[in-house]
Amino acid sequence: MSPSKVSAITWDTFHNTVDGKPRGGKEKHRGVNPATGEELWEVPIANQQDVDDAVVSAQKAFETWSEVPFEKRKETIKKFKDHYMNYVDEMTDLLCAETGKPRQVAEMETKGVAGFFDYHLALSLPEDREEDDEKVMLTRYTPLGVVGAICPWNFPIILSLGKAIPALLTGNTVIIKPSPFTPYTTLKVVELAQEIFAPGVIQAVGGSDKLGPMLTTHADIAKISFTGSIATGKKVMAAAAGTLKRVTLELGGNDASIVLPDVDVKKVAPELVMGAFQNSGQVCVATKRIYIHQDIYDEMLKEMVAFVKTIKTGAPGSNALLGPVQNKMQYEKVQTFFKDSKDKGYKFAVGEPDVAQGKGFYIQPTIIDNPPNDSRIITEEPFGPIVPTQPWTDEEEVIRRANNTNAGLGACVWGKDVERAERIGKRLQAGSVFVNSWEKPTPQAVFGGHKESGIGGEWGKEGIKAYCNAHVLHTYKSK
Ligand code: NAD
Repeated sequence: MSPSKVSAITWDTFHNTVDGKPRGGKEKHRGVNPATGEELWEVPIANQQDVDDAVVSAQKAFETWSEVPFEKRKETIKKFKDHYMNYVDEMTDLLCAETGKPRQVAEMETKGVAGFFDYHLALSLPEDREEDDEKVMLTRYTPLGVVGAICPWNFPIILSLGKAIPALLTGNTVIIKPSPFTPYTTLKVVELAQEIFAPGVIQAVGGSDKLGPMLTTHADIAKISFTGSIATGKKVMAAAAGTLKRVTLELGGNDASIVLPDVDVKKVAPELVMGAFQNSGQVCVATKRIYIHQDIYDEMLKEMVAFVKTIKTGAPGSNALLGPVQNKMQYEKVQTFFKDSKDKGYKFAVGEPDVAQGKGFYIQPTIIDNPPNDSRIITEEPFGPIVPTQPWTDEEEVIRRANNTNAGLGACVWGKDVERAERIGKRLQAGSVFVNSWEKPTPQAVFGGHKESGIGGEWGKEGIKAYCNAHVLHTYKSK
């Protein structure tokens, strides 16, 4: 039985969780509601002592949790899922407050995380047995120890539980560090988890960006699973080298979407737009460059512009499709792409060169029509609601253009001729390529980037190995 909805949890006080207990702090900070620009609740800033205490507790808990039989661990994780689902409405309120997402969009995350639980709860641990005349080789996958999960602000629940679930399932203990911009839902999820797990199995330390290095350099953390920007990912990898930690790096993207000339323009136009502007463009695998065949370029752009004009941007309580940019820093960064495009004289197919200022960090979805290949909007990831389109005619050339980037997270190809679309898709240098769909990561498939978009991957059958050592037992037959 999982605890029913009776816990004394409050939704307006927040703390870190260390060794099964609430942990405050002398220093505090506050997130900001991006829909209003107003400050939210106080949260403690964890320090080195908090991290050290969490690691000691996690190591102790690992001794027991890693020995709990796999099926029993699943039962406990299932109880955690049920307990979390009891509070899904409160979690949605909180997610709306900290991210500004429209409620129906926030629910895709708060409710959608159930799919991550369910998929992992149906997995078995991989095992391989090879035998020859003299020996048997048994390969098993054993837990690493204490995992540090460092998370970004765009999907605080999915991205933290997307690490914690496979880490716990495989017998690790986990310390989650939420983004300072979105600490609230993560701290509550981990607080709820304390009613299910023994102290130290799952903990949360939030605070400032100073905390990340405390985790990445800690001698007793075995692995860092990091999701965030390419720039920070490089720092994580450098820091982890000191203790030869395992790392999984889920980093930024600059996804290309290639549109073949045979598509149904009216059907595909809104999908291209959604691929680019889902979550206001704040998705690692959002479409960030759109290559449309010359024969349909004008018609497609016209349809996309018409669809963009129907999109409502607004606060969580409204019936908007898109919310604000999540934080001021990102809001200002996205505006540099508007300014650059305006200063260089690029054509705004839809959207205004000057972002309207007001309460909240709102930016209207904007399309830049055929900027040059070396423009910032083509070469860099804005991570906001602005996307470029370019025409193409030659298949080889557009594949080269799509691959001409340091990133390699996702990509899309659209075409009635599915064989041709798949043929192109197979040549795109990206971890997840979608044919006739915009980017929709799912727990069933391993998710990871090529090139500077990451190292390793998570989710899917392959993903649970990211939380394990391979352990091979070579048993020679008795002589
Ligand atoms: P970020 O790199 O600024 O921060 C990510 C996390 O790292 C935060 O928790 C932050 O506090 C922490 N951090 C900061 N400095 C650190 C350091 N020196 N060492 C360790 N941790 C440190 O990224 P962000 O702005 O939160 O997120 C946006 C970026 O994340 C985008 O580039 C986006 O594409 C990428 N992203 C990737 C994926 C993916 O799965 N590949 C998913 C979501 C977002």
